[in-house]
Amino acid sequence: MSVESTSAESAKVAGQPSAGVGPWDVVIGLEVHAQLKTDAKLFSPAPNAFGAEPNTVTCEIDLGMPGVLPVLNRRAVELALRAGVALGCKIRPVSQFARKHYFYPDLPKGYQISQYEEPYAEGGAVPVAFGDAVRKIPLTRIHMEEDAGKSIHDDAITGSGVSHVDLNRAGVPLIEIVSEPALRSAEEASAYLRSLRSILRYLGVSDADMEKGQFRCDVNVSIRPAGSAQLGVKVELKNLNSFRSVERALEHEIARQVACQECGERIVQETRHWDERGNRTRPSREKEDADDYRYFPDPDLVPLRIAEAELDEIRRSLPELPLDKRARYQSELGLPEAAAQVISEDRELAEFYERTVQLGASPTTAANWTTRELLELLSEGGIGVAELPFGPEGFAALLSLAESRRVTPAGARTILGEMAKASEEPEAIMQRLGLESLSDRGELESLVQAVIDDHPKQLEQYRAGEGKVMNFLLGQVMRRTRGKADPAIAREVLLRLLQE
Ligand code: ADP
Ligand code: MG
Repeated sequence: MSVESTSAESAKVAGQPSAGVGPWDVVIGLEVHAQLKTDAKLFSPAPNAFGAEPNTVTCEIDLGMPGVLPVLNRRAVELALRAGVALGCKIRPVSQFARKHYFYPDLPKGYQISQYEEPYAEGGAVPVAFGDAVRKIPLTRIHMEEDAGKSIHDDAITGSGVSHVDLNRAGVPLIEIVSEPALRSAEEASAYLRSLRSILRYLGVSDADMEKGQFRCDVNVSIRPAGSAQLGVKVELKNLNSFRSVERALEHEIARQVACQECGERIVQETRHWDERGNRTRPSREKEDADDYRYFPDPDLVPLRIAEAELDEIRRSLPELPLDKRARYQSELGLPEAAAQVISEDRELAEFYERTVQLGASPTTAANWTTRELLELLSEGGIGVAELPFGPEGFAALLSLAESRRVTPAGARTILGEMAKASEEPEAIMQRLGLESLSDRGELESLVQAVIDDHPKQLEQYRAGEGKVMNFLLGQVMRRTRGKADPAIAREVLLRLLQE
């Protein structure tokens, strides 16, 4: 999708949002924090690095020492703008950083630098595919802010009852993407998150790895009588560390709210913590009002000015986004929706696939092999496309052997298995393992005839109308050729000779 988002717009709009729970409609709005893929922090030169020894990638600015001044990281702004532009947000020419005050051990400054009244991006939408239809989930805003440090409560680990503070994460650049309350079920929320994650990765804005805390989400949920236009009292859910926990926490919380309503209990606005093991949500703290944060513009930071030329530059550099790719795979390459979806979700996989097709593989064959064999290889090895010992050239060469029937499909799978182990040309592997298929008709004819001659009983049965004997005979042909006979040609020859 580009800013003008032509193809997303032309995509079909989904019908009615999915139904709620009995007489209740469900309303969900999401706040997603995504860590920006920068080298340094948002306001300091300390490295933005995951997994370092505690308190080693932090500096006086992140620690809030007296006398230091924050300096805004240009690259972080570029990445934030990239997300805003790609999602079709309105970018403010001037935006402002504010201090958000609260007291917590992992926030040494006593305030977090965020954007409040003047976020850099407003409006826009995340396109989400529900089956074949694309719905655009509207955004309220996107703002930039710095991450806080981490408190590590040691009780569970050493039983010492000590809490530790790690400030490595303090100051890591984030964007917070706030959706309108426009999602209607746990399923929709999860689809929205997947789509957003895929887009941020495509853009190179964030690695968005949930396990590393690079993509975190707070879920706001309420219910209201079906058909009502007024919003119900919302509950905010925290501690959701996977798509699965988002879905499960939502399902539980929705059921809890429905039960509350039906017993005439009041639902209170609060933050609830998802307890993964206990499989329930429990209250953590009453949510504070914005007033409690005593927001005010950060006097250490000048307003952020964005020139139109910079936005143009970003617009020009945007890649084709996942849903546009998906639509193109369906319309131009004739792929079925499922394959188009799977391949387009991951940019590296999509680029690998497209290159394979450019190198001459048929789009359908390449898609079949990508979604089955290739993905299987990746998941077995627990690796990404970039870590494969072969590239699209090798893959295309393999598919060419299969398409020209120089190897059988089974033979091609064996070759792929070898290619995954070490870098070797498919052709060379085929020679080394003697996998070249037997597709010479003359040769196959004498082989098939020999099989028929050796099985007079089966021949009789076949002539008596037992069609399935054909498969037995074909099996014999494959056995004699140790699987190398081209199955389609062997079948054709066998049929013909049986009928003579
Ligand atoms: P807060 O001030 O508590 O942060 P906001 O109005 O800023 O609340 O909204 C935060 C998130 O909650 C947004 O994603 C929004 O869509 C969602 N939200 C707001 N009201 C509701 C509601 N009644 N039900 C579900 N989600 C809601
Ligand atoms: Mg809010």
